[in-house]
Amino acid sequence: MIHDIAVIGAGMAGASIAAELAPHARVLLLEAEDAPGFHATGRSAAFWEECYGGPGVVPLTRASGAFLAEHGFLTPRGALYVGRAQDRAAMDAFCASYTGTGVHIERLAPDALSDRVPHIRPEWSEALYQPACADIDVAGLHQHYLREARRHGVTLENRARVAGLVRAAGIWSITTARGESFRAAQVVNAAGAWADVVARAAGVRPVGITPLRRTVAVLRVDPPAPADLPLVLDINGGFYFKPDAGRLWLSPHDEIPSEPCDAAPEEMDVAVAIDRFQSVTDWRIAALEHRWAGLRSFAPDRMPVYGADPAEPSFVWFAGQGGFGIQTAPAAARLAAQGVLGVAGDALTAGIDPAAYAPSRFAAAKLEESA
Ligand SMILES: Cc1cc2nc3c(=O)[nH]c(=O)nc-3n(C[C@H](O)[C@H](O)[C@H](O)COP(=O)(O)OP(=O)(O)OC[C@H]3O[C@@H](n4cnc5c(N)ncnc54)[C@H](O)[C@@H]3O)c2cc1C
Repeated sequence: MIHDIAVIGAGMAGASIAAELAPHARVLLLEAEDAPGFHATGRSAAFWEECYGGPGVVPLTRASGAFLAEHGFLTPRGALYVGRAQDRAAMDAFCASYTGTGVHIERLAPDALSDRVPHIRPEWSEALYQPACADIDVAGLHQHYLREARRHGVTLENRARVAGLVRAAGIWSITTARGESFRAAQVVNAAGAWADVVARAAGVRPVGITPLRRTVAVLRVDPPAPADLPLVLDINGGFYFKPDAGRLWLSPHDEIPSEPCDAAPEEMDVAVAIDRFQSVTDWRIAALEHRWAGLRSFAPDRMPVYGADPAEPSFVWFAGQGGFGIQTAPAAARLAAQGVLGVAGDALTAGIDPAAYAPSRFAAAKLEESA
């Protein structure tokens, strides 16, 4: 059987675009692991935060927010960007960079912070509040897309690591590491940290997707973390923490370049996280209960990459979802699917300019460099 489209990778990216394409095409979903969701998708910090990823990502995040809320995947949390007196200029610059994006940010009075974040040290007096921030039911969203894909006839093949991609007579012949073969007219590269590896296997020029390791530590704190604690982020990007069942999920906001792999946390990064946490609060840490790491994968300009490769249009990029691939999934998948199918935007994607995320921007940069 020749499929219309083979999607490579069944994390949030692959599952969501497969579900969006499935009503209109015969779609095959190929996943290297025993089950979908083992890599970045299964390791996220599970928040939807309007500013996360920068102003260029806001249209995708905001459009997705409406879908996520409507389908019951969001639980209100609120976010606080915190800093010290010397960080006021950074806070002003942060607010200014979101002017005109529709993001709602409130500046809090200094004494308001200690009411919202117990045990915060007094020198952390500056805060921006982002009320729309919410927790995302990541597993629920991922399962929703896998279910929708299945309902519309998508075949999911697990343990199908794509190793070879050859195009002849308008058809891709796809071989896996275990020797199976499949055929499809188009390929969607949703391989997360492996996106450049898959491109190389297909003879397509990589766009420069770099996996960066991010660590999360789960702390038992005394007293337990209140359920209504907001997500607390350092305005200078040194840490974030949020509550979960009385515990705290704490990250040092690390970005350590890595090969694509099953990422594991390093003791040093956990130690840095705890050290930074203790510099911002005097909350007693009773135990370090758990830790994990995952890879967030970025294009050189840290914007996602959606669309047909300029040199090989039957090879479609759906990669570079960085630290925002869950919160942007609904709008990103709809937008990219509309591009593949050649159909116009709809209410979900109306305010989004696909050109901002097109892989052709790298080809243009290359030409400018060589001019
Ligand atoms: C610690 C951490 C915290 C995060 N927090 C948030 C957050 O709060 N909110 C948010 O929106 N985002 C967050 N993210 C980012 C988010 O998790 C990612 O952007 C998203 O999961 C990317 O999805 P993906 O499908 O592209 O990648 P993945 O989930 O990694 O999926 C890629 C899949 O492709 C498969 N694959 C690779 N190569 C092949 C091949 N050759 N053949 C077949 N299959 C292949 C892999 O096995 C994998 O299953 C976080 C990430 C991390 C690591």
